[in-house]
Amino acid sequence: MKFALAIHGGAGTLRPEDFPKAQADEARAHLQAALAAGGAVLVGDGSAMDAVEAAVHVLEDSPHFNAGHGAVFTHDATIEMDAAIMDGKTRAAGAIAGVKHIRNPISLARAVMEKSAHVFLVGKGAEAFALANGFSAVDATYFHTERRMRELRAVQALEAANGASFGVLEASDLKIPDKKFGTVGAVACDRAGNLAAATSTGGLTNKRWGRIGDAPIIGAGTYADNGTCAVSATGHGEYFIRACVASDIAARMRYGQHTLLQAASDVVNGSLVEFGGKGGIIAVDGHGNITLPFNTNGMYRGHWREGESAHVAIYRDD
Ligand code: ASP
Repeated sequence: MKFALAIHGGAGTLRPEDFPKAQADEARAHLQAALAAGGAVLVGDGSAMDAVEAAVHVLEDSPHFNAGHGAVFTHDATIEMDAAIMDGKTRAAGAIAGVKHIRNPISLARAVMEKSAHVFLVGKGAEAFALANGFSAVDATYFHTERRMRELRAVQALEAANGASFGVLEASDLKIPDKKFGTVGAVACDRAGNLAAATSTGGLTNKRWGRIGDAPIIGAGTYADNGTCAVSATGHGEYFIRACVASDIAARMRYGQHTLLQAASDVVNGSLVEFGGKGGIIAVDGHGNITLPFNTNGMYRGHWREGESAHVAIYRDD
């Protein structure tokens, strides 16, 4: 079997005119580095699980994406991160939410899967589990970037200008010039035909009240099952949760015998649009087919199939 790997760094209003070229070039370089890290695992006959974790690490460490270093700020100017990982071979899964001090949240999600009897840990409990399992706590300032602080202030100024206190759902619907979702994710099919999916995020700018999005919810933003596909999503999480996006794609394949491409497109460009949900997904099936549909005008993304060259893109026509 030939391996296949796909990654994303978020979807949204991404047009060439919105970006200094140097910024776009650096984001592309980091996407390439993530593909290289995940691909190196797969080239060495490593597992899809190891590959998606390695790829997501690179994206979490990059300031360009909304995960790890560079995660977006909450309403109170704190950072609260969510992540999930799923093994398509066993359908074992691990997820964490509301974590503030873990450098690579995707690895904590994996530790929950491998070292606890649970699937989903949240907040202080998740951090206590991390410390008990060899993770170190990093200072919250590690995650902070100027750019995300400017975005928070812009959203809060819009809130104030609208004369009302909006929840995050409404805030993100306001006409914010460079509205985008910067969650990161990876999906892979390894040479043994095993699938895996991983997603990591800071959530939505200005979120509050312990809001959690789709990324750490198995079947919404993250899903993997060798019998169908592995999916990682990015977009307006509230809609992705209600539409059960990732498991809906898998269910269409399982029960309707749809191909990966058809199932993913019907959900992302069909039912999700009718619903009002903005964003995209990356997915791979057990034959190494890859699809990266999005209903926004751009999505940071990349893919690499064994025997082909790696490709990264940001804009729709990249
Ligand atoms: N899906 C994420 C959330 O709603 C946001 C994103 O994709 O950037 O938390």
